[in-house]
Amino acid sequence: MNLGMLKLFRLLIITIFIQNLFASTQSFDFDFIKKGVQDDNTLLIVGGIQGDEPGAFMAASLITTHYKITKGSVWIVPNLNFYSIIKRSRGPFGDMNRKFAALSPEDPDYNAIQRIKSYIKSPEVKVVLNLHDGSGFYRKEFIDWSHSPNRWGQSSIIDQSALNIEAYGNLEEISSKVCTHLNKNLINEKHSYMVKNTHTRLGDKEMEKTLTYFAINNGKAAFGNEASKNLPLNERTYYHLVALEKYMEIMGIEFERKFDLDALSVRHVIDHDIYISFYDDKIQLPLSQIRDVLKYFPIKKDGNLEFTPSNPLMTVIKENDTYMIHYGNRKLATLKADYLDMDVQQKFITMNVDGKQKNVSIGSVVDVEENFEIEPIKDFRVNIIGFVQKGKRDESGVQVSRDKILKRYSIDRNGKIFRVEIYKDNKFAGMVLVNFDKNRKMSENISMASSKEKSTTAKL
Ligand SMILES: [Zn+2]
Repeated sequence: MNLGMLKLFRLLIITIFIQNLFASTQSFDFDFIKKGVQDDNTLLIVGGIQGDEPGAFMAASLITTHYKITKGSVWIVPNLNFYSIIKRSRGPFGDMNRKFAALSPEDPDYNAIQRIKSYIKSPEVKVVLNLHDGSGFYRKEFIDWSHSPNRWGQSSIIDQSALNIEAYGNLEEISSKVCTHLNKNLINEKHSYMVKNTHTRLGDKEMEKTLTYFAINNGKAAFGNEASKNLPLNERTYYHLVALEKYMEIMGIEFERKFDLDALSVRHVIDHDIYISFYDDKIQLPLSQIRDVLKYFPIKKDGNLEFTPSNPLMTVIKENDTYMIHYGNRKLATLKADYLDMDVQQKFITMNVDGKQKNVSIGSVVDVEENFEIEPIKDFRVNIIGFVQKGKRDESGVQVSRDKILKRYSIDRNGKIFRVEIYKDNKFAGMVLVNFDKNRKMSENISMASSKEKSTTAKL
């Protein structure tokens, strides 16, 4: 897959203002995303109820960014316990999946629980899927410590065999079909899936407090899907997606997927189809090879950083003068602030790239084979970060090749992508990135920049 394609998948999350680590956890509200044509045969997918189960929330997130629902209706909550995802903890305020029976209004998760309950109870919703990464491998007989009836990984969870509702009440049958489908698509035979019936109604006090049992008691078909924590992230995500696609098929929901469903392609989209933009696209950062620290990063003088992430698992957390980009359980990069006034007038610059003149939107990434030159702009000054020419403050009108820029100033670890910054007096007017990586072209971003998908995310 070409990295340039990521723009296509851009599912614009409404621009978010910087979240302060020390602010109340309200700023970590979960996303609720509707896809497809809304109807009363809706599938509700929940990921991220426990922050240390990345296969679950990655899979749910990929449905929001890399799937197009062509028939039917899907609702997705990819990051139910977003704070726990950022904290990389099962539940900083206790296990959220034990809060669906009685819960004190004083509980920090109370509002999130009320919200998700209302989506579960919505008349449109017919099937509820809660995704988990569970320990070991569920097996009906005890084999060893990690393969036993006490384990959860690689299983399809139901609370009871059947439920007396209009459609999809044959829980065990559906769950078996999903397992059969998964077992036809195993990466390794050792990963086989089985139905696990928790028989919650017969007195499982723990399971009575869970999301799926709440759904069952509200007349919804509900299933848990578990991938094993013993598997790498891309394989867990793969299994969740294989299961999700089968549930959609069972419900008559159709989709187009924007990558091949195999473990390697899943790893690629997780690691490489990621980027973030700032200040209404004045700056765009590809994040797949980003350095741990970017110094002198332009931030508005008031300290506010408006950002648009490429997926709902991404956010930015401010701590003093640093801005940390988080992606699921990962810390991707720290931006060290250079506080500046901003000038919003300039929309594009003219560049000479390998001998060809181009108009380039501010915020673009431009592929360069050999060299580039920024044409002088009246009243503006150009600063190519890492390029020094003695006695010159404005670096426009100079032909620059890769070896003229100090490698350690690149934004990526490979030393291929560099910042070109535009200033009016001392005001920051925008950034363009030049990419010297011949194997990873990014320019398609430029043409896509004007065709943003409409936001389908409601950040409530
Ligand atoms: Zn779990």
